[in-house]
Amino acid sequence: MSKITVVGSVALDSIETPFGKVESVLGGSATHFSTAASFFTPVNLVGVVGTDFPKEHISFLRSRKIDTKGLEITEGLTFSWRGHYDYDLNTAHSLETNLNVFQDFNPKLPENYADAEIIFLANIDPQLQLQVLEQATEPKLVVMDTMNFWIEHKKEHLIRTLQEVDIALMNDSEARELCKTHSLLDAARMVMGWGPTTVIIKKGEHGVLMFTETTHFAAPAFPLEEIKDPTGAGDSFAGGFLGFLAKNGDFSEQNQRKAVVYGSVMASFSVEGFGLNRFRELTQKEIDSRYCHFEEITGF
Ligand code: AMP
Repeated sequence: MSKITVVGSVALDSIETPFGKVESVLGGSATHFSTAASFFTPVNLVGVVGTDFPKEHISFLRSRKIDTKGLEITEGLTFSWRGHYDYDLNTAHSLETNLNVFQDFNPKLPENYADAEIIFLANIDPQLQLQVLEQATEPKLVVMDTMNFWIEHKKEHLIRTLQEVDIALMNDSEARELCKTHSLLDAARMVMGWGPTTVIIKKGEHGVLMFTETTHFAAPAFPLEEIKDPTGAGDSFAGGFLGFLAKNGDFSEQNQRKAVVYGSVMASFSVEGFGLNRFRELTQKEIDSRYCHFEEITGF
């Protein structure tokens, strides 16, 4: 079993979808990732929250066996995000992004975090992502996610961080915006030109594409009857993907294909509830059964 260290946002999210709304609930890229990955493997979390961050959220993370030694609590307000979705649930409209305590954050990896084999740079300022990566002593697999906010505000730093990464994750509109092309194939090639050997492009309800220099792999999204909130689907995908690879220890391309399916399974559960609600009651049996169902719907 490989150890995972993740850096990313730990947030208070306010979300409105056509199916309801919630105010100031536990969210953030690192939180969604860690919770999904914790169904497979232990996770070390690096991030920062303010003194307003409810204690019960930390208890929840610890109850999932997520190591929170690297989660700093500093004077000030926790990062907060407000977003809404229309019936096209693939597009998040960001209404407010308050970086708050993340603005002066200087991540320091606790001793038992630095030697993790897998480093996940979840969506956050690319300069912070790089700072964490520079402290990693034995990374075997470095994976990074991002979003339009950082493409718009810190593109040069983003490309600099991409140069140090093995696998880049982004969604289709971000890939198009970053590479200024409609073609996802061209975008993937351009990103690979900066450094990563694999690019995974998430297309929401239309599934996911994985590109390497020589192969392509496509998986659909799991067809769901009820969706409540797509927030965190991308991070939950990453959690299932890397959680499976960490548990299994084999990072080959063949195994990455299975990991893409585990990622899709975790993303499909995540959108069935607001925030992290669905994960609070999810069982291993449900994960295994949906993975089998996935094999059925994709086999021919
Ligand atoms: P996703 O998996 O892309 O839906 O990620 C959703 C999470 O990203 C939410 O829980 C937000 O708190 C977080 N988020 C939104 N904007 C940013 C940002 N600019 N940087 C880091 N995290 C963000």
